[in-house]
Amino acid sequence: MILQEKREETTIYFYTGEIKNLLLFREDKVTGNKSIINHSRALRPHSIQQHSQLEVAKEIKKTEKVCIFCQYENEELPLASKEKRYEKGEAVIFQNKYPFAEKHYVGIITKKHFVNIFKVKHFRDVFLAFKELIEDELSNEYFYINMNFLPPAGASIVHPHVQAFTFAKPTPKHQLIIEGMKKHGKEKWLKEHKDKGLQISEGNSFEIFATFAPTLNSEIAWVSYENRRLNDLKNKELKEMSNIIVSIINYYLHLNPFNAFNFAIYEHEQHGVLGFIGLRKPLTKYYSSDRGFLENYHGMQVISTYPESIAKELKKSFKFISSYRK
Ligand SMILES: [Zn+2]
Repeated sequence: MILQEKREETTIYFYTGEIKNLLLFREDKVTGNKSIINHSRALRPHSIQQHSQLEVAKEIKKTEKVCIFCQYENEELPLASKEKRYEKGEAVIFQNKYPFAEKHYVGIITKKHFVNIFKVKHFRDVFLAFKELIEDELSNEYFYINMNFLPPAGASIVHPHVQAFTFAKPTPKHQLIIEGMKKHGKEKWLKEHKDKGLQISEGNSFEIFATFAPTLNSEIAWVSYENRRLNDLKNKELKEMSNIIVSIINYYLHLNPFNAFNFAIYEHEQHGVLGFIGLRKPLTKYYSSDRGFLENYHGMQVISTYPESIAKELKKSFKFISSYRK
């Protein structure tokens, strides 16, 4: 079995009685994910209260005045390559000014500063623009398209945008998936999800399902039937994928108009085009996370402090300890 589960019931005692919790320890041998599901943890008390939707909307409005993505023609935004930015409809791609890879791109997907209902064209256009960029600029590197939506998902800018990057080797989480697919096979992986009632839909080119051992809450995955790469997808297949993404996102935003989310799309001849999307906490006034798609879906950390500097700095405070040592 690729999808494995161990169930455990715990009992917590009170003077007034007892409550039981059901814990599901799950493992997916293809993704390498190990998740613990306890539905009642959603009931935990939180010391910090959520802000009202009106307050959150006011905060978003404030960010519009200082948004660099609202000015498409802004010359301070980098180009995608030496010569140009890639544009399609409202989508525009340029290089990330603060990259974590040699080729790290940002793709703005709409002219609107904030949207809580996404449209298929938002994603279709940015995917078409990336397809053009891949053909012009990239060779055979591993290519990933990802999204952090809103600060609780790791986004530093509210304006909806995707990020893409290339690496010479697969990212650690992707490497596990490539090996898992090779060992167990995509068909068996999909069949086990279907047998457990997790299949959502069979599209023309993609199958959509809820993941058995998720990385994030309410996680959904989609995978192409054919093992092709992103720039081998036809325009109608890119449109179908955009439709899938938009349907999931609009469902998330229907639950809460300020819900944050991460997604990552991998491509490889072993499994085709494979995407994962999951919920983060909704936007609130004082919460911004430093963990986004790279940490959740690639198994890597981006760090902005030098370990050498912190060692040098703390050496001063620890001098007294070293002085005791003979
Ligand atoms: Zn903006």
